[in-house]
Amino acid sequence: MADRERIELPRHQNNTLIAELAAIRRDLHQYPELSWLEYRSSAIIAERLHQLGYSVVAGADLYQSQPHNWPDQCQRDAAWQLAATELGHDHPWLQQCRSGYSGVVATLDSGNPGPCLGFRFDIDALPISEANDAEHAPKALDFVSRHAGVMHACGHDGHISAGIGLAEKLVCALHTDAKAWSGKVHLFFQPAEEVAGGGHCFAALPQLQEVQRFASFHLGITGRREIVLDATWLAARIVDVTFSGHSSHAGNAPQDGHNALLASCTAIQNLYALPRHSGGMTRVNVGRLHSHNAHNVISDRCEFRFEVRGSNDAVCDDLLQRAQAVLDGAASMHGCTATSTAVSRFESQDNHQAMVQRLQQALPAIGIPEAALRLSYQVPASEDATSMSRVVQQNGGQATHMLIACNTRGGHHNPRFDFDEDLLAWAVDVLYLVTQI
Ligand SMILES: [Zn+2]
Repeated sequence: MADRERIELPRHQNNTLIAELAAIRRDLHQYPELSWLEYRSSAIIAERLHQLGYSVVAGADLYQSQPHNWPDQCQRDAAWQLAATELGHDHPWLQQCRSGYSGVVATLDSGNPGPCLGFRFDIDALPISEANDAEHAPKALDFVSRHAGVMHACGHDGHISAGIGLAEKLVCALHTDAKAWSGKVHLFFQPAEEVAGGGHCFAALPQLQEVQRFASFHLGITGRREIVLDATWLAARIVDVTFSGHSSHAGNAPQDGHNALLASCTAIQNLYALPRHSGGMTRVNVGRLHSHNAHNVISDRCEFRFEVRGSNDAVCDDLLQRAQAVLDGAASMHGCTATSTAVSRFESQDNHQAMVQRLQQALPAIGIPEAALRLSYQVPASEDATSMSRVVQQNGGQATHMLIACNTRGGHHNPRFDFDEDLLAWAVDVLYLVTQI
């Protein structure tokens, strides 16, 4: 066991491929785009895959309805204009996203009878200001973010790059050997993972309904260079709460007020006091609280956002139900009313064990030592590929989420986030393996 711990995934040997994938990643890294606003990224992906011979659907054609957490028209217009400044207003694929919708699905038929395969890559960045000193490799190597306050701090630039790399490999393989792989492939470049929205929209796509074997992956995560074939994620529910009370003079007549701020604080303390659950791990957090009142006014309105997470949907929903009782109780104590609005949800989803086993058996063929493999890992975070994985498995297909893992500088969602770029080449190899099992 001690030896096993010491052996990590070796550096990938194909330096040409690493350089090509790193160049794609570094371009995307310089122009990060927030959730639902990934216009430049979508246009670049669509153009590249169209050139490779894929049939490409992008932007509005992918949506049956508006996303529930879509940014407002002003934000969408501003983001599109910025992308147009960078790529040119006439870019055909950018025009395809003109209506404010992002994302790409690209399809290739091998010409050989076989299963329908699906691969998902998330493409959005985060509202984080990237570190800007020479200690940070993207700065030192001159590919730091050019969009102030926005950063690819979770590796989704690498996910796109690996997706394009896989697209190229699938085409090249057929040129070399017409029987290299069988069936049809859909590549899903999904927007808005960070806000839990894109996964729900893409789960409804007709292309996904025919997928029989589905793979998604994430870079980084475990802190060790290794491959994880069966990664699961926490379910999460994110909720906005508004407490409404009654204001009064804090000196003159505090007894006449109904204190919404105090009711919120009571609720928050008791949210953190929700009992643990024997059915799985749980998390609770409140990240922000706002009351606009002056210091000498009993607060009449207070807002906060909280999240609950659980290792499965049942535990998470139990927590959510108890949270509602806490909100109602706190409101009652202080003569206020509490209203809550669901912001978004991440689902938990088990992976298909037969698919995991077949991948495990196939891994040595691409030079991955057994000691660099960790079969399963519960990620203490959430990911909306689970929504797509669930649909595939409900339809009788097989699906798994993998980690192409390494130590990330600064950690995920941190201004110093960075990953080992040779992992992009490993990601292409591992994903391609899904066509071979
Ligand atoms: Zn991520």
